[in-house]
Amino acid sequence: MASIAIDGPAGAGKSTIAKQVAKKLGFIYVDTGAMYRAIAHYLVQNNINIENNDELKAACESINIAIKYENDAQQVYLNGENVTPFLRTEETGNMASKSSAKAPVREALLGLQRDMAKEYNVVMDGRDIGTNVLPDAEVKIYLTASSKERANRRYKELIEKGEVADLDKIEADIIERDERDMNRDIAPLKQADDAVLVDSSFMTIDEVVNAIMSEAEKIA
Ligand code: C5P
Repeated sequence: MASIAIDGPAGAGKSTIAKQVAKKLGFIYVDTGAMYRAIAHYLVQNNINIENNDELKAACESINIAIKYENDAQQVYLNGENVTPFLRTEETGNMASKSSAKAPVREALLGLQRDMAKEYNVVMDGRDIGTNVLPDAEVKIYLTASSKERANRRYKELIEKGEVADLDKIEADIIERDERDMNRDIAPLKQADDAVLVDSSFMTIDEVVNAIMSEAEKIA
């Protein structure tokens, strides 16, 4: 089985790009952020104090996450329930950003992520795929963009949906998330030594997809 690992900070466009690359290659797209968000959803729903390690550990032991593909789209099941529609909220994202730094949460997902790459050809995106989950991935990409550009993209997305948005607050949130992801003790976000750096600040989606496809073609 072949794996393409795409890591990078929040809002760099990983999922948009990874989906398109997976489609072109006929690989499965695995969104690991959605798995962290599913655990976060459970933690919020059940009022778990993530600073209490025993409480968090017990909660993680009672969680079963399963991934299914329906109409080509990844669906995340939490203890048998499809929670995919609840994962993109601000509250879930905030909790995911905090709880993903905790060992019981990361331990709960590592095996599942590795098993998926054993079973299928995957394009897997996240923060620690090339460094930790799939250190032997055939292609590793570190996809980033300036915080200003990432904030701008998110701002436009919200405005297009008719939502209220504050550009400065969005950028501040992005910087705070980067800080947390890059400075945590376990599996922090960083570029793997053998990853190709793609800075998408001044690139179109097609240009980024093509850049990754030309890396993927080297292994074909
Ligand atoms: O990518 P997304 O925003 O959906 O990820 C949600 C959160 O999960 C991130 O803020 C990050 O802290 C965490 N995450 C992680 N490791 C991954 C994927 C996501 O720590 N492989």
